[in-house]
Amino acid sequence: MQQHRTQVVIVGAGPAGMLLGLLLEKAGVDCIVLERRSREHVLSRIRAGLLEPGAVEFLRDSGVGERMDQIGRPRDGTRIAWQGRPSFMINVKKWTGLEMMAYGQTFLTEDLYSMREATGTPYFDQITDLEIEGIDGTRPEVSFTTAGHSVRVQCDFVIGCDGAQGPCSQLIPESIRQVYERKFPFGWLGIMVEAPPIDDFTYIRHETGFALAAQRTPMLSRYYVQSRLDEGPEAWSDDRFWDTFLGRCPPEIAAQVTTGPSIEKSLAALRSRVVEPMRWGRLFLAGDAAHVFPPTGAKGLNMALSDIQLLSAALIAHFSEKDDRLLDSYSADALSRVWAAQHLSWRMTKLLHIFPTDDPYDRKIRQAEYDLILKSEEVQRALAFEYAGLPNLRG
Ligand SMILES: Cc1cc2nc3c(=O)[nH]c(=O)nc-3n(C[C@H](O)[C@H](O)[C@H](O)COP(=O)(O)OP(=O)(O)OC[C@H]3O[C@@H](n4cnc5c(N)ncnc54)[C@H](O)[C@@H]3O)c2cc1C
Repeated sequence: MQQHRTQVVIVGAGPAGMLLGLLLEKAGVDCIVLERRSREHVLSRIRAGLLEPGAVEFLRDSGVGERMDQIGRPRDGTRIAWQGRPSFMINVKKWTGLEMMAYGQTFLTEDLYSMREATGTPYFDQITDLEIEGIDGTRPEVSFTTAGHSVRVQCDFVIGCDGAQGPCSQLIPESIRQVYERKFPFGWLGIMVEAPPIDDFTYIRHETGFALAAQRTPMLSRYYVQSRLDEGPEAWSDDRFWDTFLGRCPPEIAAQVTTGPSIEKSLAALRSRVVEPMRWGRLFLAGDAAHVFPPTGAKGLNMALSDIQLLSAALIAHFSEKDDRLLDSYSADALSRVWAAQHLSWRMTKLLHIFPTDDPYDRKIRQAEYDLILKSEEVQRALAFEYAGLPNLRG
């Protein structure tokens, strides 16, 4: 068995784990990143695509913004197209002076992997037999198997960046751990198309369901339709997708869409989940390991970055200044941001989707909420701040 000693073991090499590893290495904190999947698998995942202003600034400050600034698309905000009503822009630029950025998570993950290769952050992929012990003491130990041999690492802290299905959150004793969860009775069927996107990120509310036109790069578009959970991507031919999508669009939006064959198709179930606390002993959770958001509101990736902003500063203060105040307040600080983002995602999901249980009263209430947004500049301003995630990453 190989034996190692390091300061921080990071479990999970998604954007949260990779960015944390990079920031710790830069600050001279020793760490090891562990990933269950292959590099190719992680880099092939297609997920989020809209970054908040604070996330954009944080990535630039972290030295990861170069390609984002070259090929990402700065956005004023996101449009809502509502059947039978004028469309409306959640205008982040107008109300906050800051821009959102359309930049695919797949590109960001590639950027982080290239930087890891340049800085040499120790990294093991395709690990199995992960075991974590001693997080309630002072010297946690992490053991795993990689490329046929066993490895044991002694460390000061274990960081669970292992996503929604990872094991780290389960290490918090059941008597302490609280899980808050809401499952929505529908999913999003998404396709990727090599074609120019429409002008604005656009949420579409139609009596037959929700749809979204999103952007990745000037030649890559992502489209979604609200769909049933019992029909997987195989039930959706490209023709069926485009008929459904265009049928939900107002004519002026449909006229902008360049259709084409899908290069990827997937179904994502919508759910909300928060695990509390985000720290137990020497274990800290970050990103999807601690919280999942329905994608309406584009919070998942942004909140993973928000956690890493807090946690990297806290770990660096611990190792470089022996100051534990930020580590001690991490869980409460992160959760206050997380719940604000949960509120926005829950509100947008309820506003824009058709629920199987909806009756005429529900439809009238949603209509009233949209009409209030259309009429009131105060409501528009508040929505823009919540959507932009302010003051999350900047506060
Ligand atoms: C299908 C899908 C679509 C999405 N679309 C959007 C969107 O449109 N907008 C949005 O804002 N967000 C979206 N999200 C959410 C967003 O992608 C996540 O919030 C983001 O990936 C969180 O990053 P993370 O690093 O915390 O977790 P992840 O990216 O999930 O990374 C966790 C990593 O941990 C690894 N891991 C798990 N278990 C172990 C283990 N035992 N040992 C070692 N490694 C392990 C996993 O393989 C994975 O690589 C989507 C998510 C999914 C799944």
